[in-house]
Parts: sequence; C-alpha cells; structure tokens
Amino acid sequence: MLFDPRPKERREEIFDREKELEKILNGMNEYPISLIIGIRRVGKSSLLKVALNEYSGVGIYIDTRRLYSSGSGSISSATLVDEITRILLGKGRVGFLRGIKVEGVSFAGLHLKPRESSWIDVLDGLEQLGRKTGEKVVIAFDEAQYLRFFGSRGGKDFLAGVAYAYDSLPNVSFIFTGSEVGLLHDFVGIDDYSSPLYGRISEEVEIKPFSRELSEEFLRRGFEEVGLKVPEEEIILAVDSLDGIPGWLVEFGFNYWKKGSFKAAMEATMNRAKAMIKEELFELEKRSPRYALILKAISIGLSRWSQIKDYVEAKGGPVTNARLNSLLVNLEKMGWIKKEKGRYLMVDPVVEKVVRE
Ligand code: ADP
Ligand code: MG
Repeated sequence: MLFDPRPKERREEIFDREKELEKILNGMNEYPISLIIGIRRVGKSSLLKVALNEYSGVGIYIDTRRLYSSGSGSISSATLVDEITRILLGKGRVGFLRGIKVEGVSFAGLHLKPRESSWIDVLDGLEQLGRKTGEKVVIAFDEAQYLRFFGSRGGKDFLAGVAYAYDSLPNVSFIFTGSEVGLLHDFVGIDDYSSPLYGRISEEVEIKPFSRELSEEFLRRGFEEVGLKVPEEEIILAVDSLDGIPGWLVEFGFNYWKKGSFKAAMEATMNRAKAMIKEELFELEKRSPRYALILKAISIGLSRWSQIKDYVEAKGGPVTNARLNSLLVNLEKMGWIKKEKGRYLMVDPVVEKVVRE
C-alpha cells in the first residue's frame, strides 16, 4: 500500500523511482562503493531495502543510527561485527549459510568468534562468501554518516577496511546512504587526500523529492488504492504545504484515509511531523543550542546572514562570525538549510512550519 507509513521493502509498494532503483541495482554489480543521498523522508531507506530484496546475491542491511544509539556514543568494532554476524545467522536460517555454531560462527569456512574478530576479518569472510555464491556480497549502511563515530579516529579504521576491500576483495561491495549529505561526503572523503578512500571510484544516486505533478499523482494513486474519492483541490492544497516529500505525503494520505477529512488529516500530519522533528531538533541541540536559534531565525524569514546573526545574538548572547559561519555550514551539511543567492532557506517546508511555531 502506497500510504503505508513504514519504509517500503518491495518494488510494488513504491511509487515511481524506476530509474533510481535501476541505478542502485547497477551500482551493486558494477561499483565497489555506491552512495544514495537525499533529504530526510525522501525514500532512501525504502529504495535501498527494495534494491537489496531484488539483489540476487547476499545483501546485508545495517541501520547505522541504531548501532550508534544502542551503544556508548560510539560504535565499536565488536558492535559492528556482532551485528553483521547476527544478520548472517538470520540469513543462515533461511538457507544462505551452513555450518553455523553460535559460539564461533562459521561462514564460508571461516570461523568467526564475534568478540575476537575484527572488521577486516569480517570483510575477508564476506569475500569468501561472495566467491562461494558467485556474486558480490553487498553491505549497506543506512545513514552511514554515523560511522564517523566508529572507533576512536573519526571512523578512519572503518574506512581503512573499506579501502582494503576496495583494493583487494573484488566480491564485496558497499552502499552508504545519508540524509546528512555533506557529512556523508566529508566522512567518505573520496575527494579528500587524507581519507583512506581518497580517489576511489564510486556511484552516486541522488533521490529528489517528487515534482509537483508526481506528488499529485502519488496522492491520487494512493487514494484510489484505498478506495477514497478526494477532491482535486484538496490534493493540490496538500502538495502546496507538504511539497514532494514522500514521507509527508504518505502521512497525509494515511491520515486522510483514517480520519476522512482534509482538515483532520492535515492536523494529524502536522502533529506527527512535530513529534518527529522535535526529536531530531533535540539531537541537534545537544550538539549546539544555537542550531535551534538559527533554524528559528531562518524559518521566520530572516534569510540574510546579518539578520540571522542579530537574531541569534538577541536570543542567545554574542557569537563570533567564525562560529556562526561554521554552524551555518554544518546545518547545510546536515540537510536542514540551503543557501541560494546569498540567502539562507529551509530545505523542507514542513520543518519550516514546525520550527516557526
Ligand atoms: P528516508 O530513508 O529517505 O528518510 P524512507 O524510505 O524512510 O525515507 O521513506 C519515508 C516514508 O515515505 C516512508 O513511509 C515510506 O514508506 C514513504 N516512501 C518513500 N518513498 C516512497 C515511494 N517512492 N513510494 C511510496 N512510499 C514512499
Ligand atoms: Mg532512512
């Protein structure tokens, strides 16, 4: 069902995106590293999951944010190895792997004791698995910018493993997705000579919000699917406020279906949005309380640098130009704001509305 609010896992559950899916699937076969980038709720996880389900070889899906938040504010090698082992065990149950022991997991003849194995050991094991199955093993890290918390060197040890695999393990490939696109690029560092991955070739698939036409068509199709007749004006109004971001369109469609009116659906959508965005802002404010002030300034229409500075200082005390600049650059890299012709603007109109209130 198009209006199912969970990430989709199968092609028939998603609307459009054929080109993007082909590109991702092609990347799995042709490129050792692929990036899937795009703002929050645009559909990255859904497309990644669909692609992994369609992939004929072994695909491993890792929710990097979960690895990060389940631990101590960092991701240890043991946590990652455990997670991959757990996933392989799960797949073993459905017949992928043989000879599994709980203590020392063995796959493809390699004995792995999760606690004693390193990231590199796992990659070597996956290479053997790939060789055995005759197809590359794909390891996908969703929201991979969190891997900068791997180990104690900003994720360099993780990347060193990826670089090793790139150079020496032809049967292993990687997919990284990121909502915080700038942070993901910084982390992977293909253009940065100090990164272990410097100069490696990768595929990049950008997932963009739907166009106006596609957004309307998406809502029409979704309503048709649940047997609801919704006036054309309401569909247009909904896209006016939600833009082409599938996550919000799905919320709206789902709530309309459940509540039966435009007004109630829009209210419920905004309440959901408020709850989700509050949580994200809470995380952001832990990094710096000034982030929230900056977003507020931009959301109420203060788009010039000097206006933002005045607002932030009035509410939060003095801030140096350099500091404000670095906060603005970070917000841009995290996908909250964009800069157009010298003005700062919010990326997502729903976030803008929530922050403004
Ligand atoms: P992201 O990982 O980019 O934050 P998700 O894949 O979690 O985005 O998608 C956000 C929401 O939008 C989910 O509810 C998902 O079901 C829905 N969604 C995203 N893309 C599509 C699509 N092409 N067709 C139908 N639903 C979609
Ligand atoms: Mg996601």
